[in-house]
Amino acid sequence: MKRGFYIGRFQPYHNGHQSVLEHIADEVDEIIIGVGSAQLSHTIDNPFTAGERVLMITRSLVSLGCAFYVIPIEDIKRNALWVAHIQSMTPPFDLCYSSNPLVVQLFHEAGVQVQSPSMYERDTHSGTEIRRRMLNNKPWKNLVPPAVYQVIKEIDGVARLRQIAQDD
Ligand code: ATP
Ligand code: MG
Repeated sequence: MKRGFYIGRFQPYHNGHQSVLEHIADEVDEIIIGVGSAQLSHTIDNPFTAGERVLMITRSLVSLGCAFYVIPIEDIKRNALWVAHIQSMTPPFDLCYSSNPLVVQLFHEAGVQVQSPSMYERDTHSGTEIRRRMLNNKPWKNLVPPAVYQVIKEIDGVARLRQIAQDD
């Protein structure tokens, strides 16, 4: 049984993440998806709650054809202890998939094998770009799986983002 770990903030979950996870599904038996900065929501950079992000991910992966677990992970603000913190919250895993330099370094130092997936159309497929488009009333629907669009519609997520971005 080979388990792989993948972490992000998923604010929101988008087609770049989906593409990476479809690739990981070909290589492992089970995938553990960590929802990072789980305690954050209702800010311009982190508009969605951990529960809303769990919904986005779970619904987008119904047809993945690989078992997966979605686990919220709160920040501990202690980089040296971060991998142990994650391991204390997840099923055991054999390798970590990440292209984030700090994440790669921390897992490497903890003795966990790391693979770095290549980026999928990173110019447009980034959380930052999607949140920018939501705020500026630009098209973003084509950058996320249909299930994510549906969740954001259900929670009126774009209106939330615009509301909290206003000055008082
Ligand atoms: P933000 O701009 O808010 O940081 P993000 O798009 O980088 O959002 P994260 O939740 O920070 O999304 O990323 C989780 C992981 O997914 C990171 O390791 C990141 O490198 C990776 N990732 C992000 N965008 C892509 C993409 N287009 N293709 C492949 N991997 C991606
Ligand atoms: Mg990022």
